[in-house]
Amino acid sequence: MTEPGTGSDLQGIRTTAKRDGDHYVVNGQKTFISSGIMADLIVLAVRTDPEGGSNGFSLLMVEADSTPGFERGRKLDKIGLPSQDTAELYFTDARVPVENLLGEEGQGLKYLMSHLPRERLGIVAQSITTAQTTLEQTIAYLKDRTAFGKRLIDFQNSRFELAEMQTELDVAQTYVDAMVLAYNAGTLTPVEAAKGKWYVSELMKRTVDRCLQLHGGYGFMKEYPVGKAYIDTRIQTIYGGTTEIMKEIIGRDIAGGR
Ligand SMILES: Cc1cc2nc3c(=O)[nH]c(=O)nc-3n(C[C@H](O)[C@H](O)[C@H](O)COP(=O)(O)OP(=O)(O)OC[C@H]3O[C@@H](n4cnc5c(N)ncnc54)[C@H](O)[C@@H]3O)c2cc1C
Repeated sequence: MTEPGTGSDLQGIRTTAKRDGDHYVVNGQKTFISSGIMADLIVLAVRTDPEGGSNGFSLLMVEADSTPGFERGRKLDKIGLPSQDTAELYFTDARVPVENLLGEEGQGLKYLMSHLPRERLGIVAQSITTAQTTLEQTIAYLKDRTAFGKRLIDFQNSRFELAEMQTELDVAQTYVDAMVLAYNAGTLTPVEAAKGKWYVSELMKRTVDRCLQLHGGYGFMKEYPVGKAYIDTRIQTIYGGTTEIMKEIIGRDIAGGR
């Protein structure tokens, strides 16, 4: 989906696919594509009808090894998640067989909208799990380390911090569980998914930050899981739709329009 000129605003996608006999001819560029370096099959969001508005987008399956005109760019240099590749992709008169169209032409945006809640649920699950794991690692650390002749966990501030964080996570977990049940029942709506995505990813960000503080200087060391979590999870409030876009989706629904 994402291009250098557009991320949050999917309708700004400029990569085009023009029909030429039994092929689409694709021109454009994508960026920030997870696993773009290792992928051999790419689901590509393209504009098939420049005048079609929200019905002008389609999804093409691009076979990386057998598509003339397709090239991968560099592996992007991120601040976190070093083992996951994130890439630029280039399409210059790339020829994709018409049979590689996913679903119907013109329905691409609709397909993306209906499946993005699943991606968001995945990020929510990662976020709550990371937050809970980091909290448990922090509890173990606070029981082990001492200052002023006491275990760190015996300071009232540590206990209050832990109490607040565990309460927030327990309350959030009930929403996550409800999301999973709704997803399994096929009833998870884009608005419900947006609520979970922004709230739980922001909660995880706050929790990891507070846990790092409780570790003192050791929290800033990559050898401690909390330091690694701090860097690697920063992206969670951004990819899969930013916190601000999630609030837009919810706010639009509350206001009663699209
Ligand atoms: C590591 C990583 C992996 C990724 N993987 C993928 C992938 O596999 N596939 C893919 O398609 N994309 C992927 N992305 C892209 C990601 O989804 C986008 O970066 C994200 O949606 C934001 O788009 P943007 O970066 O263009 O920011 P912009 O859209 O330029 O936004 C910049 C800022 O403006 C705010 N903003 C924008 N519009 C509004 C608005 N209407 N109201 C209020 N605030 C607004 C945003 O919230 C943000 O804070 C990945 C990104 C990263 C960093």
